[in-house]
Amino acid sequence: MNPTTDPALRSWVAVPADSHFPIQNLPYGVFRRSAGSPPAIGVAIGKQVLDLTLLEQRGLLESRCFATSTLNRFLAAGPAVWSETRARISRLLQTHEPTLRDDDGLRQQALVPQSEVQMLLPVEIGDYTDFYSSRQHATNVGIMLRGPDNALMPNWLHLPVAYHGRASSVVVSGTDVRRPCGQTKADDAPAPMFGPSRSLDFELEMGFFTGPGNRLGESIPIASAPQHIFGMVLVNDWSARDLQKWEYQPLGPFLAKNFTTSISPWIVPLEALEPFRCPGPVQEPAPLPYLRSPGDWGLDIQLEVWLQSAKMDQPQRLCLSNAKHLYWNICQQLAHHAVNGCNLRPGDLLASGTISGPTPDSFGSLLELAWKGTKPIALSSGETRVFLQDGDRLTMTGWCQGQGYRVGFGEVAGTVLPARKDV
Ligand code: MN
Repeated sequence: MNPTTDPALRSWVAVPADSHFPIQNLPYGVFRRSAGSPPAIGVAIGKQVLDLTLLEQRGLLESRCFATSTLNRFLAAGPAVWSETRARISRLLQTHEPTLRDDDGLRQQALVPQSEVQMLLPVEIGDYTDFYSSRQHATNVGIMLRGPDNALMPNWLHLPVAYHGRASSVVVSGTDVRRPCGQTKADDAPAPMFGPSRSLDFELEMGFFTGPGNRLGESIPIASAPQHIFGMVLVNDWSARDLQKWEYQPLGPFLAKNFTTSISPWIVPLEALEPFRCPGPVQEPAPLPYLRSPGDWGLDIQLEVWLQSAKMDQPQRLCLSNAKHLYWNICQQLAHHAVNGCNLRPGDLLASGTISGPTPDSFGSLLELAWKGTKPIALSSGETRVFLQDGDRLTMTGWCQGQGYRVGFGEVAGTVLPARKDV
């Protein structure tokens, strides 16, 4: 077993029982201590952030990756450096390790309450790709568009379908999302119209950040895919369904998707997720050899989506799901992406696509939860929803449940702002 994920490990930093950030997790993020201060790299532990930029400066870490404002350098360094660094940080935080624990001055400087910091986008994202890896989601959408007999397209069971998204509009949790304007056309209308989207939706997804990439023209064998995957975040891939419906043929989504994508600020390393790997769904027909991943790469990550309208004083849960429902796993996604010689680079974001489970309460979008507007969702305020309204705050959270501890992702949240009036 990897010593950093031992359930018996404890830290001298207090970790509440329901915390997402016990010593077994140690997710990486980028934060600012106050409005004017420079970005620093840290790991979350309990309710604190441990400042790695400072620890490296003081000679406690040898990684030479943290005197910078993003995690790209660390991502590029590869799995040997990731492992060594994680083991070192884990040791520094363990109950019986005095180096930092007993150095009052350094400890007080290096630990900052999470409630006092501003989290920033952890990576300068080069490219963002969004897959379509949930069979239930693809089936649900297929039924709505084409009926139950042709729900899955003929390619779906043979390859992880994806499109190239937009990296510039990926934002960190807490950033508001502006309702987009665009072209829509009602089925019975003679011509399209322009205006604010009336079908703004969320998509419950998970994403991973790539480490070392591949040269242009070369590919990544699926057996070595894990060495190119640094860690994972929660993703809300905001979507304007009415724009999507009118624009998506024949090249796929464009303005319906690229206005905002939100991610959680803490990247949970793949090493921390190892104990939560599980069998994925049986793949029948068997994928082509380049997509056959050795080992189990399902991930048992419980996921929830919560909504709070402007009239509500607390959020209401809309969806309860799990990442293990994904048909195509992260190794298959990565190997497929590079199999044609497309070069991946450190800091690319590859997202799963909407994660929908088998039951109606586990569907990962309002399109599915309210079934294309036919089953409005009742809110505790007496309101109903078929799509998001201005002022709605949407929060996603996720965690792996260990024996007496949780390896969590924190949350990704955003509030819907009204469309701009001057477009
Ligand atoms: Mn998506």
